[in-house]
Amino acid sequence: MSISQLARSISESPTLKLNETAALLRDKGEPVIHLGGGEPKSRAPVDAIINCTALLNTGEVRYTPPDGIPALKKAIIRYTEEHYDKCFGPANVIASNGAKQALMVLLYTILEPKDEVIFPAPYWVSYPEMVKLAGGVPVPVTPEDGSFHPKIEEIAEAVGPYTKAIILNSPNNPSGAMYSEEFVAAVVDLCEKKDIFLIMDDTYNRLVFDNRPPTNTLAYATNHTSSSKLVVINCISKMYAMTGFRIGWAVSDNEEVIRAMVNIQSQQTSGPSAPAQWAAVGALNGVQSSIYSLRMTLENNRNIMMERLKAFDGVKVVQPAGTFYTFPDFSTYMKDSQKLARLLLDKVRVVTVPGKDFGMEGHLRMSFCGTIKDITEGIERIKWALDPNSPNELYLGDRKLVRDWL
Ligand code: PMP
Repeated sequence: MSISQLARSISESPTLKLNETAALLRDKGEPVIHLGGGEPKSRAPVDAIINCTALLNTGEVRYTPPDGIPALKKAIIRYTEEHYDKCFGPANVIASNGAKQALMVLLYTILEPKDEVIFPAPYWVSYPEMVKLAGGVPVPVTPEDGSFHPKIEEIAEAVGPYTKAIILNSPNNPSGAMYSEEFVAAVVDLCEKKDIFLIMDDTYNRLVFDNRPPTNTLAYATNHTSSSKLVVINCISKMYAMTGFRIGWAVSDNEEVIRAMVNIQSQQTSGPSAPAQWAAVGALNGVQSSIYSLRMTLENNRNIMMERLKAFDGVKVVQPAGTFYTFPDFSTYMKDSQKLARLLLDKVRVVTVPGKDFGMEGHLRMSFCGTIKDITEGIERIKWALDPNSPNELYLGDRKLVRDWL
């Protein structure tokens, strides 16, 4: 076998795989509705495009410092001061190829073989694979009460002699849940007392609804010295709808950790691409109205999706506090979420993501970052496919479907 044991232990990204399947079906002219997506459909802010094209127009696109151009680090520092009320210096910041690379180089930086990393379930699909890539052992903690909110005692119980870090993601992909301020404060306290890393994944930090303020984890830390083990991860991907630019970052009081991350990143990718970095500078320093309009659009979409799902007998759904995902429990219809997602794609051409991939069976992740038409029609098709009380026939375009699988 020429494939390494490590490579064999890593699963393919289920969300990227679904995008591929949906694109193939669309190419064949199939009327696919994609409720599995992980990116807003709005355009990148104009300041990002202007900055990026200004660099491209010079025709001189060179290597940059591996931790990011000074203008980007400055923009990140300003952003952190504005949104976290915390003043960092350039040595506390690394810009990476998306939040994903920031997380990955951080894990490479801190994990020894067999070190454990705890994260609550449901969790972002990539956490277990990324921890394994860095030689560590993923330790998901599933709330016993079946909710999306673990108790601090459940997290504390999972901490053992090999625990190196806890990852929190709030608001959360896939549940849309936001952990309470008390819970986050208690995790910060636990990590400080046990001397373990807290990795706060704030990818969706600005996409919070109902006028609720985002959580500022840095405000709960008492250790703001270079021995701090709190690292905050962020990116332009979701808040500015700039997923394809691939810019994210990490900030921490711990300069040694940041320096080691830069070393690893410099050997791995030599840092993010220059045009993308200039685009990020434009987005971070430019007019911020796109975030507000994206949030309003998403909140409205969420309300529509909730209204439809709540009218769906047998589906248990919790209203998301942020992100653009909801994670309803479909187990009364089918316990096996992979089978259910496959059925919905095969029969009614709706893409959803199986809950199993996020560590919670029986659920499906459904996105509301698409159009209202996609949301309403997608849920209508799902309801038709699963609810025996709906009419026996459905038209997809001019194709008549007859439900013969219930
Ligand atoms: N963290 C979470 C929770 C995410 O959902 C994602 C993207 N799906 C990332 C990190 C990675 O973000 P990026 O695209 O900036 O690498």
